[in-house]
Amino acid sequence: MHVQDIKLLISAVAPEQYPVNQLPEIALAGRSNVGKSSLINRLVQRKNFARTSSQPGKTQTLNFYQLNQDLTLVDVPGYGYAKVSKKQREQFGQMCEAYFTSRKQLRGVVILVDGRHDPTDDDQTMYEFVHYYHHPILVVATKMDKVTRNHQAGNLQRIRKVLQMDPADDLQAFSAVSDLGKAEVWQWIADKM
Ligand code: GDP
Repeated sequence: MHVQDIKLLISAVAPEQYPVNQLPEIALAGRSNVGKSSLINRLVQRKNFARTSSQPGKTQTLNFYQLNQDLTLVDVPGYGYAKVSKKQREQFGQMCEAYFTSRKQLRGVVILVDGRHDPTDDDQTMYEFVHYYHHPILVVATKMDKVTRNHQAGNLQRIRKVLQMDPADDLQAFSAVSDLGKAEVWQWIADKM
């Protein structure tokens, strides 16, 4: 998809703030620092659209971006900071639960994991949570430019295994440096529209 026009519709915490349009929606979730902002910026071909490395302690919001007249991307805040308080963790959980259970136009969820390592407990929790609500999932293994060719297939296999991925869900290697996987991620999104 060629993104001519992109705008932040709203940063929302609660369902009554979600945009009321009926555009198909794709959500993106991942641990802080996994490379989610970099991926979004590559997808929409902007240098600094999504903020990179959001700070811990900042208000956590769902950011709704409209692309052309076609699609909404929802940037779910990064999780997995060691330092967040119990209260913040609960708020994050409630915000995600409200969104993933109620959003009718949500067509699929992209979950990013670090392609260099095994998924963490937080990654597993997010995968299970989204899968439980029957949303189609694309797991994207980021930073694959840092993984030698010899190890790429093995890492992908490990990710599938550790997350106990449903065979119906997809897995894609990605690099924001080389654009590896960019076309495939767009294709997966297009298939859901
Ligand atoms: P976010 O917190 O998930 O939004 O992560 P960012 O997009 O801010 O990326 C975190 C760090 O990882 C930054 O220093 C990025 O430059 C780096 N990074 C992100 N994607 C890639 C990638 O595909 N390859 C490499 N080598 N570094 C990446």
